[in-house]
Amino acid sequence: MRDRFGRPVTGLRISVTEKCNLDCFYCHREGCFSGSREMTAGEIGKIVGLATEFGVSKIKLTGGEPLLRKDIAGVVTAVTASRVKEVSMTTNGTLLAKVAGKLAAAGLDRVNISLDTLDEATYKRITGRGLLREVLRGIDAALSAGLTPAKLNMVLLAGVNEREVERMIAYTSKRGIILQLIELLETNGADFETYHCGLDGIERNLGKRAVAVRTRRSMQARRKYILSGGEVEVVRPMHNSEFCAHCTRLRLTPDGYLKPCLMRNDNLVDVLSPLRAGDSEGVREAFVKTIARREPYFRMD
Ligand code: SAM
Repeated sequence: MRDRFGRPVTGLRISVTEKCNLDCFYCHREGCFSGSREMTAGEIGKIVGLATEFGVSKIKLTGGEPLLRKDIAGVVTAVTASRVKEVSMTTNGTLLAKVAGKLAAAGLDRVNISLDTLDEATYKRITGRGLLREVLRGIDAALSAGLTPAKLNMVLLAGVNEREVERMIAYTSKRGIILQLIELLETNGADFETYHCGLDGIERNLGKRAVAVRTRRSMQARRKYILSGGEVEVVRPMHNSEFCAHCTRLRLTPDGYLKPCLMRNDNLVDVLSPLRAGDSEGVREAFVKTIARREPYFRMD
């Protein structure tokens, strides 16, 4: 199903909890705020099942920190019951070492691990916690468990980690990980003017070194630079009408609301209430309503 702007909906980004064990100063929390209910693994599975009727084929589990859920392997099992093309997870990696094998066995295809720095002091400055070693162990465990292609999400922060890009390229290339360089999005979390870091210079540099450059239309038209020995994707959402024009995602909050856009909270649609009432038609209507409410946040006009 396409929205009014001709965009298909192929991805569902599910926040499975609002809780997190880190306190990254810039975090947008996937645009989710405290709710009074939390979806069970079974409910998430059922919603995914109905989402596939509308063309959803890729599921991303996120949070909060998804690994804080004790039943996270059960969530993965419930989601994979719908035979979607891909189930992946975005995690801060701090708790990954112990559960990577279990998640792979439950059917998780791959992971994105969020890591903005390889420097311990900078890690603590960004996240408020001294857990860098645990993350590095988690990355190794994910690779051993076959949760690949793994991606490392690095949000560029001016004056904090912008000089670490080369080090990150070396770290990820060596391990066969795709590096995603992410532009800071303006939300309530950080002092945007202070920390926003333009990516033009970095992209120019990548362009000169790349053996190939691709544009991934289905992934918000993001550019991918193939380097000899490594891959870097660049995610530039701010004031980027191309980014929004190619958005194919819906979101689901931990308390069971469908969310048409990360950046807005005024147009959510309750999908958990009809589900809990056993009203499958009501769940379908919630999807139709949400898709009808989708509109590009940044656009030409
Ligand atoms: N706790 C999990 C994690 O750390 O991956 C999942 C939730 S976290 C909100 C998901 C991703 O959003 C992380 O890669 C994080 O770096 C990114 N993110 C958070 N706030 C952001 C912002 N203001 N701009 C750009 N990316 C942001």
